[in-house]
Amino acid sequence: MKPKTILHSDCNGFYAGVECLLNPELNNRPMAVCGDPASRHGIVLAKNEKAKAFGVATAETIWQARRKCPDLALVPPHREEYVKYSRLCNEIYLRFTDLVEPFGIDESFLDVSSSRRLFGDGKTIADKIRETVRRELGLTVSVGVSFNKIFAKLGSDYKKPDATTLIPEDGWQSIVWPLPVGALLFVGRKRAAELSKLQIRTIGDLAAYDRAALVKRLGQAGAQLHDHANGVDESPVASFYAEREVKSVGNGATFEYDVTDHEDLKTRVLALCDSVGWRLRKKNLKCRSLQVSIKDPNFKTINRQKTLERPTNLTMDLYRDALELISVNWLMGKPIRLITVTAGKLEQAEKSVEQLNIFEDPGEIAKQEALQSAVDSIREKYGKDSITPGALRPRGASSGAKREK
Ligand SMILES: [Mg+2]
Repeated sequence: MKPKTILHSDCNGFYAGVECLLNPELNNRPMAVCGDPASRHGIVLAKNEKAKAFGVATAETIWQARRKCPDLALVPPHREEYVKYSRLCNEIYLRFTDLVEPFGIDESFLDVSSSRRLFGDGKTIADKIRETVRRELGLTVSVGVSFNKIFAKLGSDYKKPDATTLIPEDGWQSIVWPLPVGALLFVGRKRAAELSKLQIRTIGDLAAYDRAALVKRLGQAGAQLHDHANGVDESPVASFYAEREVKSVGNGATFEYDVTDHEDLKTRVLALCDSVGWRLRKKNLKCRSLQVSIKDPNFKTINRQKTLERPTNLTMDLYRDALELISVNWLMGKPIRLITVTAGKLEQAEKSVEQLNIFEDPGEIAKQEALQSAVDSIREKYGKDSITPGALRPRGASSGAKREK
């Protein structure tokens, strides 16, 4: 079978780039997008090249950034514009193939294997895409071209901004193997530290490492990483138009009496979130949004939703966000007749790239996922009621689960 041609296109400095389009004056000076520009303690979410030259770094406070660069222009994020430009980028990619799979807001995979006759080889298409995005949108992208997704992604990181990097079927080893292992997709800082304990520092070290030993150490993830380091990745690029099989997963309960007690409410919300999370995990999905509907005894209903900081299917994540939605939008103690919790914006669990959240510890998330799957496997074995969702509560959290046996 002829090797595939896969592209990964990644916008360079996407948020800052869009902000400079909205306000071209920003182009000429160091600027940063900040969570809360009015507060000294707001955090830098993105910056342009000029700010980078002053040493301004993502995740530092405005106060720290201003010390390095007193002249730094600060702007709040305009999320709806980012979504719009993200769509415009994908529309350009779709001129070359239907197989466009967004991978986060500012990057997408493209399978152009069947487009080569029409548009030329992978590098030619990549160059065309870069030129088109620059001319039509005023943004720059870096594109990796290779025979699988993992190396295409690696290629888009290899040279920035506004560059095409080809990682060819013949001779990829000389480009890929000398790179630090952290350059591989799915190797975060924690995983890299873990690998470095095994003397694995480069992708070449990983490729040469004994596979069985790696699997013993890291489980299935070890096998996958070993494959990737050896250029083996068969994962397909999904069609942009592929029907999302399930659009949302929700669960609601009409209470046998109007609930007013806070602890009572928490227990019930936990049970709902647990059931939603369980169904997501069963389907191997994660959600990016959560909606809560609350109905009062007079059938007055409010619907509130929020976008989650990262995709999740963990009961406790859903619970925390659902409670937040309720407490912000509902006066505690006001009677509730019915609550519905719905998870939306679903995606395949293994595909979901966890947007960098500077406040979260990836090790902590892994720990929670491990705890969750331990609880799930007890349930698989002994039935759904063998263990209550209360088992997932962090120690010290108030327990409302006692009513459940
Ligand atoms: Mg990017």
